[in-house]
Amino acid sequence: MDSIDPIAAARIRFVLVGTQHPGNIGAAARALKTMGLSQLILVQPEDFPSDEAYRRAAGADDLLADAVVTHDLASAVADCRLVLGCTARSRRVQLEEHTPRQAASRLAHVAAEAPVALLFGRERTGLTNEELQLCHAAVHIDANPDYSSLNLAAAVQVLSYETRLALRGGAAPEVLAAPAVPESRTDLATHAQLEGFFAQLAETLEQIDFHKGRAPDSAMRKLRRLYLRADLDEKEVRLLRGILADAQRMARLAGEGGVKNSVG
Ligand code: SAH
Repeated sequence: MDSIDPIAAARIRFVLVGTQHPGNIGAAARALKTMGLSQLILVQPEDFPSDEAYRRAAGADDLLADAVVTHDLASAVADCRLVLGCTARSRRVQLEEHTPRQAASRLAHVAAEAPVALLFGRERTGLTNEELQLCHAAVHIDANPDYSSLNLAAAVQVLSYETRLALRGGAAPEVLAAPAVPESRTDLATHAQLEGFFAQLAETLEQIDFHKGRAPDSAMRKLRRLYLRADLDEKEVRLLRGILADAQRMARLAGEGGVKNSVG
């Protein structure tokens, strides 16, 4: 069972206005479904229903089949008590501007009582000024100022993820305030240095007959985990490789001695 409130989730409409590429409609349906959301409204889509939309939905066909298609934005949001409009260009209109997190929090709050809507514009031109005039506030996903326009379905994914977190609210402290991952050192050995070490370790284990006929894979997997957990730096890798080199030398000597002994 999903942990978000299904009644509030069902009150949150993702409204795609004038979408040009059916693939984006399918990808948006998939984005919503992965986040436990379902209300997809299509206002004057250029090409829908379409095979391409179903292909890109990759299993979110139910959302596409249930999508409401309308000719008129006003009627799609008539009963909504909060309407927010996503725009790639910051500060284009005289509207209060929210981050996705602020927007999601407002949407989730109002959706506890009433329907709400989040508008997404056309791929080429976004939402018109008139469409933005219908909105209580604009939503902008912070992005590279020189290249701030996300793919439509990618924007839907960002907002639907934030909406999911907001709907989970206090029920999911581990998601909302995940404990900080301990800071990784910045002077760690490189991938290539570690792989060099692991190759020499595998070779050494063979030479000292550590495996005794068992398959080496399981021991190597455990040893990799152990050494990767240790966050080795370059000097430490060199130290370990020095130990291996000595072990290899001793194994060779013992091998030669063994041959001599058996001959002598
Ligand atoms: N060329 C259009 C971009 C359209 S992208 C323009 O300049 O407006 C299609 C839709 O995805 C946008 O209308 C918007 O709803 C959403 N979108 C894309 N990038 C976004 C961003 N950085 N922040 C918020 N919404 C974004």
